[in-house]
Amino acid sequence: MQFSGLPRVRLADLPTPLDELSRLSKVLKGPRLFIKRDDNTGLAFGGNKVRKLEYLLGEALEQGADTIITAGALQSNHARQTTAAANKLGLKTILVLRGAPPSSNWKANLLLDSLLGADVRFVPDDPHIKIDDVLYDISLEVEGKGGIPYVIPVGGSVPTGSIGYVAAVMEILEQIYQKGIGIDYIVSATSSGGTQTGLILGAVATNSNVRVIGISVSRPKEVLAPRIVRLANETAQKIGIDVKITLSDVRIYDEYIGPGYAVPTRECINAIRLLAREEGILLDPVYTGKAMAGLIDLVRVGAFREDESVLFIHTGGTPALFADEGIFQASG
Ligand SMILES: *Cc1c(COP(=O)(O)O)cnc(C)c1O
Repeated sequence: MQFSGLPRVRLADLPTPLDELSRLSKVLKGPRLFIKRDDNTGLAFGGNKVRKLEYLLGEALEQGADTIITAGALQSNHARQTTAAANKLGLKTILVLRGAPPSSNWKANLLLDSLLGADVRFVPDDPHIKIDDVLYDISLEVEGKGGIPYVIPVGGSVPTGSIGYVAAVMEILEQIYQKGIGIDYIVSATSSGGTQTGLILGAVATNSNVRVIGISVSRPKEVLAPRIVRLANETAQKIGIDVKITLSDVRIYDEYIGPGYAVPTRECINAIRLLAREEGILLDPVYTGKAMAGLIDLVRVGAFREDESVLFIHTGGTPALFADEGIFQASG
């Protein structure tokens, strides 16, 4: 696959490790399990957004931008990684975060946003306020002051950002070839969909036979799946590859969301504890904890054969462990 012509800046520490979770496999009596450590992409506590930002900020620099504008939840990992990446390139960052400014100390990702020097703007968590409109208004404000803005929509889930995970699939295929292992499934948390889009497109375009499973942490699959199909086909066009993604390529489980986005379930807390205690790996309470809870349940109900291998993508988010420590005290 050729997309080396697209602008890219080096931000991530690649390749990230791909390790076996042998103790977890044994405890679950399940298939061989592996983990891709994209929590270790190496920039300000890392995470999956760094791979997207390599292409997004590559495009921003090519357009001569000096100010990056993006949005997210109060504890957005994407906002934190974007600010860190922009700093490394000498660009300013304006963050639009949904929710009320906290009355007490800023914690976790929000603390890191402020340490990194982002210009943080809070907007009420009101469905009538369209975040894309707010981003647009701020881009006019930047232009009015003589700046050159580059807007990244929530999660960086646009074709340019999704390319980061097409490239990640090629990195994974190279690693498993070198280790002499096979992978039948890739399992990842999915929310704004760019990560799953890139994974699906990479898996299909390389004829790899790897099936991609997304565990939704926010949207119902009826909403997310068509979005991923559209994004995947736009991304394919952008890279210049001749594949057509359809709904049958998009496998999403939305039954592990629980009461809502960023509201941890008991299964999520248990999955975080299990990974910490069996493998010494820290997951996060918003994305990877729920995705791992989904993977554990899929193993339990026999979704994978014993001779199959599953690769879990650790997409990061660990700073959110410190956003509300109380969730871990309640259940012992
Ligand atoms: C953003 C994020 C995701 C979801 O990725 P999308 O491309 O938005 O679907 C998963 N895990 C973590 C830790 C994230 O920050």
